[in-house]
Amino acid sequence: MRDSLRSAGLSGLLVCLSVTSGCAAAPAVEQATAVPTNSVGTTIPPASVDASASPSAAAASATDLSGRTIVIDPGHTGGWTSKWGTQKVPNGIGGTKPCNSSGTATNGGYSEHAYNLAQAQALAEALEARGATVRLTRTDDSTASADLCVNHRADLANELQADVLISIHADGNTGKSNRGFHLIVSPSMKGGTAVEDKSEALAVDLRTKLESGTAMPRSNYIGKGTALSVRSDLGTLNFAKRPAVMLEMGNMMNVTDAALLPSASFRTQAAQALAAGIAQYLG
Ligand SMILES: [Zn+2]
Repeated sequence: MRDSLRSAGLSGLLVCLSVTSGCAAAPAVEQATAVPTNSVGTTIPPASVDASASPSAAAASATDLSGRTIVIDPGHTGGWTSKWGTQKVPNGIGGTKPCNSSGTATNGGYSEHAYNLAQAQALAEALEARGATVRLTRTDDSTASADLCVNHRADLANELQADVLISIHADGNTGKSNRGFHLIVSPSMKGGTAVEDKSEALAVDLRTKLESGTAMPRSNYIGKGTALSVRSDLGTLNFAKRPAVMLEMGNMMNVTDAALLPSASFRTQAAQALAAGIAQYLG
């Protein structure tokens, strides 16, 4: 599995490097203002949980994440500026990289950073409904601080000794027919091999639930059918001492995916699938 993942990751890296603004190239974080997720003054309305979308799952799992702590990292930030984003920070593997990129957007103007936060808030609701304690690395889409640079995105999960860190993104691949979700893990985590193996197991469980529970298919351009990618260039994952997976929930450059991602009903569907995947991994 590890070998196949690493080879899949190589192709993913090549694809990502060919894209200028999207991908998971530089998520950001903000543990300093971490707050329970449901509150918070954000300009983006949280996707409401539609109990009718999966009533049996919601009813059956009211406490299956009780006692668990989940950190969700909504990638990037609407507070991005060139000066802030281009400052060099450690990349977790001995080099440096920009603090954070601006992220991508759909052709219709729906930004990745806005999606990431809305999806994170929907996921927080779904996890809290299962009894989990949830924290977000950022709770607004208008500020930027050192804490949101990629070298600090894992700090909150590390400090809380979270059971799981989920970093949410959407891709910006320019191939028009390229669509679907993929999952990224790191072979260079501060947590070492044991945490890397757990992260891969988490990724597989998330993939299973996303595939069965949402309208978004597996990526047709990353992972050679596995939708799994291994990348060592992502500070968010490299600095994690806890099991961590970065999600690219769809390709914002693809017309079909770009219609799904702005939809609150899709985000609710995805949130329930991700919560189920986390519960399966921790079960
Ligand atoms: Zn991103």
